[in-house]
Amino acid sequence: MTKITINDLVKTFEASGQRDAEDGEIVAVDGIDLEIADGEFIVLVGPSGCGKSTTLRCIAGLDNATQGEIRFDGEIVNARRPRDRDVAMVFQNYALYPHMTVEENMGFGLKLSSKLSSAEIDARVTEAAETMGIDDLLAKKPGELSGGQQQRVALGRSIVREPGVFLMDEPLSNLDAKLRAEMRTEIQELQNDLGVTTIYVTHDQTEAMAMGDRIAVLDGGVLQQVDVPEQLYRNPVNEFVADFIGSPSINLLDVAVDGKRLTGPGGFTHEYTGHEIGDRSRVRLGIRPEDLAIDERGDVLTVSVVEKMGNENFIYGHLGDREIVARTDTSVRPDPGETVGLSFANEALYLFDAQSGRSLE
Ligand code: ATP
Repeated sequence: MTKITINDLVKTFEASGQRDAEDGEIVAVDGIDLEIADGEFIVLVGPSGCGKSTTLRCIAGLDNATQGEIRFDGEIVNARRPRDRDVAMVFQNYALYPHMTVEENMGFGLKLSSKLSSAEIDARVTEAAETMGIDDLLAKKPGELSGGQQQRVALGRSIVREPGVFLMDEPLSNLDAKLRAEMRTEIQELQNDLGVTTIYVTHDQTEAMAMGDRIAVLDGGVLQQVDVPEQLYRNPVNEFVADFIGSPSINLLDVAVDGKRLTGPGGFTHEYTGHEIGDRSRVRLGIRPEDLAIDERGDVLTVSVVEKMGNENFIYGHLGDREIVARTDTSVRPDPGETVGLSFANEALYLFDAQSGRSLE
């Protein structure tokens, strides 16, 4: 197990004609500080291009940091080659050797890099294959396996090496939804059993929330917040995190502030009873879909679509020009075109600075 400390990590790439590049360089990672405890399962999450993979590749040693330090158990590893970092990486595309059997794929890394005897390597491969439930596939080649089986082999190959750190980059992206959900829990169980420090990259916030002990949310190469799932959900530091975490996404409204009175699109008004908003004339108001109650006798929200999920309904509608979604039980099912009322508890509101997006809580 390894404790990982990242200080002011910056990674830039030469721009070759990219639109968003400044001064001929792309800043993929822009000053990340992060401490990952021994045995922790941390997830890096954020939209495409936010710098997740680059951060992971710097930790693995596949990319060199432009600036900043990466420490494993206190020792700076920036100059260490990937194979001297004691990390095992699992990728989305599995990266198996097509001409080798599963057994050979799993043992290959150890044969190259360790001084273990072939009997010891065989024993480790057998044990890892049993752990991953692929012991009956050892003689097959990757081309004969399903995507899910190939991903198990890729995971098996990483556990054979008994590394200090697992680095996983969107390992489940190529699997269908059901298999992905299954593999999620398997990876968590595996990580619990082995206790190996794990950094897991995904763009999928649901996957991040389901899997991470803590979750690091990135945007534009900058760490926005790192926290346990409940905190990210209930105490987002800014509008970006509030919007990124949760499905359906939080409703955000631009509202005018007059004392305690909030006025928004489509005639929305609310007497705010929380803490002082300060002398702002505008704020952005956030309300989670499940915190909105629908009153079928009211006339604020014009319903556009009702999605019936079986165990709950998502009710979409318009408040002026803003689309709003409420998450209700199945007994609430207004017709499209109908207007309904909205109510919510004052404590359910999130307030953000309209300019900076920072939480005003
Ligand atoms: P995705 O989920 O799409 O993989 P990501 O969050 O993992 O996104 P990165 O792959 O880390 O993002 O990329 C961050 C930024 O750095 C992007 O703008 C990307 O185009 C750029 N980038 C990444 N690798 C290189 C490279 N080798 N050369 C030039 N630019 C790169």
